[in-house]
Amino acid sequence: MARVSLKDVCKVYPGNIEAVRSVSLEVEDKEFVVLVGPSGCGKSTTLRMIAGLEDITKGEIWIGNKMINDVPPKDRDIAMVFQNYALYPHMTVYENMSFALKLRKYPKSEIETRVREAAEILSITKLLNRRPGELSGGQRQRVAVGRAIVRKPLVFLFDEPLSNLDAKMRVQMRAELNKLHLRLQSTMIYVTHDQTEAMTMGNRIVVMKDGVIQQVADPIALYDKPVNKFVAGFIGSPPMNFVNGKIIKKESKFFFIAEGFIAKIIDEMYKKLASYENKEIIFGIRPEDIHDKLFTSMASSENTVKAVVEMVEPMGAEVFLYLAAGKSSLTARVGGHNKLEVHQDMDLVFDMSNAHFFNKDTEDMII
Ligand code: ADP
Repeated sequence: MARVSLKDVCKVYPGNIEAVRSVSLEVEDKEFVVLVGPSGCGKSTTLRMIAGLEDITKGEIWIGNKMINDVPPKDRDIAMVFQNYALYPHMTVYENMSFALKLRKYPKSEIETRVREAAEILSITKLLNRRPGELSGGQRQRVAVGRAIVRKPLVFLFDEPLSNLDAKMRVQMRAELNKLHLRLQSTMIYVTHDQTEAMTMGNRIVVMKDGVIQQVADPIALYDKPVNKFVAGFIGSPPMNFVNGKIIKKESKFFFIAEGFIAKIIDEMYKKLASYENKEIIFGIRPEDIHDKLFTSMASSENTVKAVVEMVEPMGAEVFLYLAAGKSSLTARVGGHNKLEVHQDMDLVFDMSNAHFFNKDTEDMII
């Protein structure tokens, strides 16, 4: 059983730098959990405390039924894969992969079996006699993963392992690590600042900001039901649009108004927003929920807003439009057939059934 539990874990670095604040998290046995957040939010520190590379200022970390706060790193039955691979340059791939087992005095035949097995899984058998200097970035990363696999640890920790790879290789390795998780059925905790990586890899994602967990959820729940404006803006690319405005009531209907636009709020959302009437609020809408009036059947006078195209980014299958609607800047993600040009006027249609609203003061999600 390799359940990992963090209970009220804090890390304060010298100089009173609060890197991690009261983090509690349960990673289930065999689960693949991704910690994601902007640089400096405390992801690596959290991972390093689990590995035993940093002391814990306060709180408890458990693996299975054992509290490991005072267990030295080498006795934690954890293997960590780093961003910079941390391979020994003078050793061959085989020697790099077998090194930890040799230190632990495993029999030679057992070492050989494990290294060959891991090399097979990672398709690096042909590279076993090379040195790291003779390998590409992607191959080096495979060796670093192989070195972790041979130890058959209870828990794998990954600290931004794909950051040094080019975009294409990152996508490929992402898929390979997912397959590896399915094959090994191990508990994995993975740190990244890249929300796309997080969305495509985790069973569950932990979003952190300023040393505090903001939300723990599966990728779709995180996307559809972010708990606050930070998570809503961090997950998704291009990010969610936010517009500051007010809720008003007109002839028993509720509307969101901001300078330059007004949109009717759908009936199902009235109840939760009633107490915000005439108050400042933040409206959020994802780029894919903004349509060009010419290409949608959703348009009505109550969800359509005039805008000017400021920039066009053709992506092939789709186009990102950067728009000005009154004083608000918006991004829309529309089909690749769209031939809009810069400075062109257009009518935008909001899919208000997918609108979000956030409290202006707390930035918590209301709906
Ligand atoms: P992330 O992995 O999310 O980028 P880190 O866990 O590396 O964030 O860092 C969290 C915070 O702790 C940052 O403010 C960082 O500057 C600080 N920090 C990290 N390591 C140290 C250290 N060894 N000494 C002092 N401050 C540190």
